[in-house]
Amino acid sequence: MDRKKINRKTAQEAIRFLDANMLDATPTNYTFAYLYLTGANGWIRKQADGIMDGGVRLAQKDVDDLMNMAPGETGHGAAATANKPADDEQQASLRHQMLSFSDITATALANAGDFGRDLAQSAEQIGTESNLAGLIGAMIERTADMERRLAETRQETERLRQDLDAARDDATRDALTNLPNRREIDRKLRVFANEGTPMAVAFCDIDHFKSINDRFGHAVGDRVLKAVAETLAQTMEPHIVGRFGGEEFVVVLPDVDGDTAFALVEKARTAVGARTMRVRDTDEVIGQVTFSAGIATCRDDPEDALRQADGLLYEAKNSGRNRTIYKAAA
Ligand code: GH3
Ligand code: MG
Ligand code: MG
Repeated sequence: MDRKKINRKTAQEAIRFLDANMLDATPTNYTFAYLYLTGANGWIRKQADGIMDGGVRLAQKDVDDLMNMAPGETGHGAAATANKPADDEQQASLRHQMLSFSDITATALANAGDFGRDLAQSAEQIGTESNLAGLIGAMIERTADMERRLAETRQETERLRQDLDAARDDATRDALTNLPNRREIDRKLRVFANEGTPMAVAFCDIDHFKSINDRFGHAVGDRVLKAVAETLAQTMEPHIVGRFGGEEFVVVLPDVDGDTAFALVEKARTAVGARTMRVRDTDEVIGQVTFSAGIATCRDDPEDALRQADGLLYEAKNSGRNRTIYKAAA
């Protein structure tokens, strides 16, 4: 089985393990389940097996105690997080499993939606006369219910992943790219707005990034994210580039008008697109990596500016990607 499949399997097993023990799917519990199931921490495995021997469920207190007392790397507690390399392999593997899990629910959600629409179409064709219509009606209801529950699971997983990412970040920097994180960008935007500094903001989102993960795995995806972050930050200097989340970056350009911001973002877009990225270990060509962007200007309401920029980014995606859109106020 390839690594991605193994990751997915472990992610599903971890959630089942937490369910069976009636433990909440918190980042700590998920880490615990991961360490237990993979045997990455032998001590935890042995102690937990000791407690569960004879069918006893693990209590939250058991998990907390074991995570605090465990020797070696648990990614938990002050001792474990102090002086730790920002992106060690175990942390990365855990994050990649969360990403896989999130992707699985997203795909299942899309499939359920498609299936629901197919059913509705069949029902229409059959009409209301036949017995089949009732049967299909029941199936439509079941599918809609599944869709709702999947959407909830996806939201939950996304929150969990964000918690996990936030736990890795220091107060202001994103652990993967070392760029300012979303919290820090929000703070800077508020500071500029309070000072009355006019600015431009750009929302940039990598195109078809999921397919890079799907083709080459999350570790390669991470390196692509770092490379894009680096090129963006260099090209936009001295302006501020932050990682807003996932494969989304925000650029804040104080005292810059919309047209100038547009030219700068276009320069960054060309620079990113010109890089030939390869998989480090195999030298396989990843192909051109591009992003789409939306730009808005702002004087006193950064949230509104971000919303506008996001709307234009959406337009850039829908009109073919690998482009920047800025619309000067009429
Ligand atoms: P679009 O052009 O419409 O933006 O398509 P897309 O594939 O880029 O967008 P989508 O939102 O479908 O997928 C984003 C993917 O980004 C899904 C998620 O697994 C991945 N992702 C988010 N954060 C990380 C990360 O830290 N590392 C890696 N490797 N992947 C990540
Ligand atoms: Mg995105
Ligand atoms: Mg994207």
